[in-house]
Amino acid sequence: MITAVKSKENIPILLKNSPLEKLLLYHNLQQTHHTYNVAELIIATCVDHRISLKIPEKFAYIIRTGGVNLNSCEFYIAFLASVKNIKHVAIIGHNECAMVHLHEKKDIFTQNCNVLGWNHNQAQSFFEQFEHQHEIHNEIHFTLHEAKRLRNIFPQLVIFPFLYNIHDHQLYLINETKSI
Ligand SMILES: [Zn+2]
Repeated sequence: MITAVKSKENIPILLKNSPLEKLLLYHNLQQTHHTYNVAELIIATCVDHRISLKIPEKFAYIIRTGGVNLNSCEFYIAFLASVKNIKHVAIIGHNECAMVHLHEKKDIFTQNCNVLGWNHNQAQSFFEQFEHQHEIHNEIHFTLHEAKRLRNIFPQLVIFPFLYNIHDHQLYLINETKSI
């Protein structure tokens, strides 16, 4: 379902000489950072604090949302593609994402409601109102789903899914034919 990138030979031919290849070279293969004045890539990833990308300054615009759920972020991508002339998008999900199995986290959310200045009922109804919109069920499937959904919206952009492993901090390729 996922494939490691440990050498240049592991990078798909489809990505050769693209900013997506550069992302893998910088992050996984420790390639020396070039200097950028103009960004080449849009990176979308989760808000998770364990994700730390090793990329040069000004190389990429970065959109971070819980679970790399890009609903309501389409405008940013369209804007960056059109106005900033960015043609490549990396969608980076990660393992052990907090947006999986949200229903299991409802109790702790409501127990801590005083942090929000809410009572238990307010916290519970808020959680129940929004959990379905933010639940991603499975990190790999959801990342792939977002990549495919955005390809349909933006057929001229090169949109590619990756998985960030929070244990070894490497980016992995997601095998698109075997993942669904
Ligand atoms: Zn996450």
